[in-house]
Amino acid sequence: MTTTSYIATLFSLEGKTALVTGPGTGIGQSIAVALARSGADIVGTYHHTPLDDTKTLVEQAGRSFYAYEVDFADPKSAQRDVDSILEAHAIDILVNNAGTIRREKAAHYSEENWYDVMNVNMNSLFFLTQKVGQKMLEKGRGKIVNIASLLSFQGGVFVPAYTASKHAVAGLTKAFANEWAHQHIQVNAIAPGYIATNNTQAIRNDVNRNEEILKRIPAGRWGKPDDLAGAAIFLSSPASDYMNGHILAVDGGWLAR
Ligand code: NAP
Repeated sequence: MTTTSYIATLFSLEGKTALVTGPGTGIGQSIAVALARSGADIVGTYHHTPLDDTKTLVEQAGRSFYAYEVDFADPKSAQRDVDSILEAHAIDILVNNAGTIRREKAAHYSEENWYDVMNVNMNSLFFLTQKVGQKMLEKGRGKIVNIASLLSFQGGVFVPAYTASKHAVAGLTKAFANEWAHQHIQVNAIAPGYIATNNTQAIRNDVNRNEEILKRIPAGRWGKPDDLAGAAIFLSSPASDYMNGHILAVDGGWLAR
């Protein structure tokens, strides 16, 4: 076997279909395009951001793209929408990327912000994973990649709901992995460091906070969404078949500091 075909076999997603939540921008878009370039067709969900650009990029990679509107802030309606998606597509890879953040001091954190963040980042992630997982259990294989955070390990400031929800994402990654590993479903997570996306625009605009963050990152720069592509392909491919319940930090060294 040549080096190229050995690597291609280990990391190939040929013939697979990946459901990626929130692939219209940022990390989700990079991951969706990376999986398409590795051979997967992509089913994407959106709420605010149209998926036309992502569709074009996926199609340029020679793969099919399907878009569905789902509001994960409303877990009950999201579950109905997910049922329709699962009737139309057999999902081999699930990437739970959709996420939201609301900044407010803990002492005055509003109920609205608390429940919106918990619904999108934790409750909908649980029920989507449960539904997709049921189908994967019937097939006897599957890959699930959750997008966690450095705040799956640390407390953060002014983002208590986000921190609670991302700790939950880490916990659910392990809980699902423990139940499903022996049925050949690998559930793992990526914990991105500080990545330049819409999600982090507010802290990048804050000159002092931006400088503090940069000083602590050993790599000396903010991450780019494409910095997550390799980890996402790895955790979606046969190369990670014996990885279960792992939270892989892609953070320029932040946690090592
Ligand atoms: P982003 O560009 O703001 O992407 C967030 C995505 O989540 C969007 O595609 C958005 O889709 C979707 N989303 C948000 N609320 C939704 C809702 N109610 N219903 C359906 N979809 C919803 O930010 P990002 O940085 O790429 O974030 C992607 C993931 O990475 C998130 O889980 C985030 O917590 C995580 N993360 C980011 C960083 C970072 O430094 N950027 C670090 C650690 C973890 P619509 O626009 O269509 O609503």
